[in-house]
Amino acid sequence: MESATQSFGFQADVAQVLKLVVNSLYSNREIFLRELVSNASDAIDKLRFRAIEDKSLLEADTPSIRIQTSKENKTLTIEDDGVGMSKDELVKNLGTIAHSGTQHFLKVLEERGGKPDLSLIGQFGVGFYSAFLVADKVDVISRAAGSTEAWRWTSEAKDSFEVAPAEREGHGTTLVLHLKEDALEYTSEWSVKDLVQKYSDFVSHPIEVLTPGYQDEPAKYERANSAQALWKRSKSEISEEQYAEFYKHLTSDWEPPLAQTHFKVEGTQEFAGILFVPKRAPFDLFQRDHRRGVRLHVKRVFIMDDAKDLVPEWLRFVRGVVDSEDLPLNVSRELLQDSRIAQTIRKQVVRKSLDLLDELAKDKAEDYAAFWKLFGAVLKEGLHYEPENKARLAALLRYGSNKLADGEFSSLADYKTRMPEGQPAIYYLTGESRRALEGSPFLETLAKRGYEVLFMTDAVDEWAIEALREFDGTPLVSAVSADLKIEQTEAEKAAQEEKSDALSGLLGAFKTILDDKVSEVRVSSRLTDSPVCLVVPTGGLSAYMERLLKAHERNVPDTKRILEVNPDHGLVRSLRTLHEKDPGSAQLVDFIEVLFDQALITEGSPVADPQRFARRMTKLLESAAH
Ligand code: ADP
Repeated sequence: MESATQSFGFQADVAQVLKLVVNSLYSNREIFLRELVSNASDAIDKLRFRAIEDKSLLEADTPSIRIQTSKENKTLTIEDDGVGMSKDELVKNLGTIAHSGTQHFLKVLEERGGKPDLSLIGQFGVGFYSAFLVADKVDVISRAAGSTEAWRWTSEAKDSFEVAPAEREGHGTTLVLHLKEDALEYTSEWSVKDLVQKYSDFVSHPIEVLTPGYQDEPAKYERANSAQALWKRSKSEISEEQYAEFYKHLTSDWEPPLAQTHFKVEGTQEFAGILFVPKRAPFDLFQRDHRRGVRLHVKRVFIMDDAKDLVPEWLRFVRGVVDSEDLPLNVSRELLQDSRIAQTIRKQVVRKSLDLLDELAKDKAEDYAAFWKLFGAVLKEGLHYEPENKARLAALLRYGSNKLADGEFSSLADYKTRMPEGQPAIYYLTGESRRALEGSPFLETLAKRGYEVLFMTDAVDEWAIEALREFDGTPLVSAVSADLKIEQTEAEKAAQEEKSDALSGLLGAFKTILDDKVSEVRVSSRLTDSPVCLVVPTGGLSAYMERLLKAHERNVPDTKRILEVNPDHGLVRSLRTLHEKDPGSAQLVDFIEVLFDQALITEGSPVADPQRFARRMTKLLESAAH
């Protein structure tokens, strides 16, 4: 006979998590029950899902979760009729961590110094190990559905664990927690019932707790949760706490959500759901392989997590559950992709999410501001991807501006109420940060006219705003655009022409010297304090966008921009004199090249040849110092 018990080493990450958990003095350790019941519930969900194809797998009519406690043995036992685990699965699932967030989790814990916040534990896919918050030894006896073999996994939270053959009636998993001396309160069936009600009432499978009989009566299992899918209950019956607990169960978040919406749709199609906006951004929000989607049920049966086709990319922060009466039970991700029913659900998910955000913006400005900070950049993507919702999305946009204090944000509608008479457009400027934009020469003329300029500092902004073009009948115009749509008076026009004529010789010299760098040189009406700036011809990319694209190694054609020269600037006037005296002046070439590079620097672009720029600058400074 082969030796029965085998020993396996824990993966290093697991050993580290275990060490943290087992030694922690975490005060809210009762969450272990929520995590373990949640695993048991998932296991039953998985079984029901597999039984759609193979009915023989389902041995019990109503699979349940059963909990019993023993004061004598100092144990707490959680049993489920779920899919169970084979020997290999026990070794893999309970000995390694597949979840990509684990390293991040460990780092977060480390950063918090000696006091790790273990309520994070479920979120990082390591909920099982929370058993060691209250137990110093755990046995897991499991039998995979469809198999006759059972195995026992045992660990004392050391570097290795053991697996040995075992007996178990029926498929499923039994967890025996050998409680720590200071955790014996969990041997009371009352405290267990309380915890089930508090954390797991909405778990959609029966949770039963073994309760001693009265006097001579035998102990019997008593139902401890209502086991009704929360989304099927009427809103008026559900408390905020219940929504919050459901959200935590669903997402393993440790905080309640920022907001939620609970809906039922009846008509040609029937479905219900609850959508949540979290209070914190997940760490993968801007990673390429981010999570997205809601949990899908069909007629209460769990079908899949993260159903991507029900939630668009630009609402990837939305979490929740949708339960359809019309999708087939055997719906797969592929089928979902082409399903008309799924498309209808997706539309409603979008609609309900936007309704929720509208409401938040209207009634809870502070919460909306918090939301916007976290997820605004994601929501903006919708402008591009979903033109049919443009108007609704536009109402949700918020930006800082040259007229708002740092940290203040305005909607486009509010911006419009502040527009002085005659302002022809909503102006905006894109760039890395508020600080980079505040000193921009592009603000000069607009600010002088009393026009407000919105600051757009998210990488997606320029790309997103391009899809909008106008808001409520007013065009959106970039402050770097060649055409600011500002109507000049006849007098202004005449003055500008006069300045152009007077400066034509110098402008010609600019054009000759910068011929390969700019498409045009012209007199500016937008500058007051700066001598020159570069503006973008209609349809061209702004310098900021160009830099962003280049940073992502996209092949971007260089847009030749227009150099605008401020005719009233002292330096420009001196150059004009210099040019008139000696049109072939070598110093004039240096001045013009340096001014061009300066225009690049003020807009945040790199100069092509910094050494040459520095040499020229030194030469000019030297002559000025004489
Ligand atoms: P998570 O549940 O987030 O994946 P856990 O650490 O809680 O992380 O569990 C690890 C894995 O162990 C689960 O993904 C599941 O495959 C398996 N598992 C845990 N508990 C059970 C159970 N009661 N029945 C079947 N499988 C389970």
